[in-house]
Amino acid sequence: MKVHVIGIGLIGGSMVLDIKSLHPDATIYGIDNNESHLTEAIALGVVDKAATFDDLAVADFVIVSVPVDVALTLLPKVLDAIGDNTIVFEVGSTKMPICEAVANHPRRRNFIATHPIAGTEFSGPSAAIKGLFQGKTNIICEVEKTTFKLQEKALDLFKSIGMRIRYMDPKSHDKHIAYVSHLSHISSFMLGKTVIDKEKVEQDIFDMAGSGFESTVRLAKSSPAMWTPIFKQNKKQVVKTLGEYISNLSHFKELLENDDYDAIFNEMQSVNKIKEILNGISPPTPKGGVEKK
Ligand code: NAP
Repeated sequence: MKVHVIGIGLIGGSMVLDIKSLHPDATIYGIDNNESHLTEAIALGVVDKAATFDDLAVADFVIVSVPVDVALTLLPKVLDAIGDNTIVFEVGSTKMPICEAVANHPRRRNFIATHPIAGTEFSGPSAAIKGLFQGKTNIICEVEKTTFKLQEKALDLFKSIGMRIRYMDPKSHDKHIAYVSHLSHISSFMLGKTVIDKEKVEQDIFDMAGSGFESTVRLAKSSPAMWTPIFKQNKKQVVKTLGEYISNLSHFKELLENDDYDAIFNEMQSVNKIKEILNGISPPTPKGGVEKK
């Protein structure tokens, strides 16, 4: 089996680590515009060999795992280069622009649009983790546009690495993911900014930071190169969710200014049901880096 991964970072790298452990006979080929990532990925055993677009004609699977703005221009070129039996999947965090970018491509039926709901705040090949996708959801959009035989091949692969499949149209995906992922990242980035700005005048503030602060601000370590194009592509939905979030923050501030502690208590108590909602949704993400050979 020949698996080509374009963009050997956290997601692409983790995926091929799992594939290789399930299929030791598979050869993993890597393509990345960052030469040092390619060298590092080979040294870490994440990929076996470097490849080029000319090699895609003989690929069984092509995983496209690059920032979402790059994916828009890269995907049509990938589809131009593949063979009749190759299945290409892309893992980006937005789905409408990606699906539109390939909608009229003659090889659209060789493509499957996915979004694995798994990750960490780290990037690059050294961030790749075995088992990242175990028990996690993979959202698949427009599955009917992929040829049945290749659909099955991709779905079998996702299930074999432990993923649950959820089907969704691209518009619903982008709307819902704005709430549960994009907004959380903005909230974390801006919490980090608020504290960093304060720390400039009060040096010892970080001595007081506990695990609550650390877990809330974790996502603020994420890559701006990856997140800027996500916010750009999903601007409409993200602006809407931000408006709702800001209104909730303003309401909380007003309650506090007015000493309305009963209302504050009730607000928090009603949000406590998040415990039941989240309970059992997903196992924790495995910790640690790549298992070195
Ligand atoms: P990453 O760790 O930064 O890996 C992306 C890799 O792609 C990097 O090595 C990057 O090199 C390379 N790249 C950039 N432009 C390229 C090009 N034109 N050709 C070939 N390679 C190129 O990012 P990631 O976290 O794996 O994210 C990849 C995709 O997965 C994104 O679309 C993201 O939306 C999606 N996703 C991410 C998460 C998450 O939690 N991180 C979760 C689900 C889905 P440089 O670093 O030099 O640019």
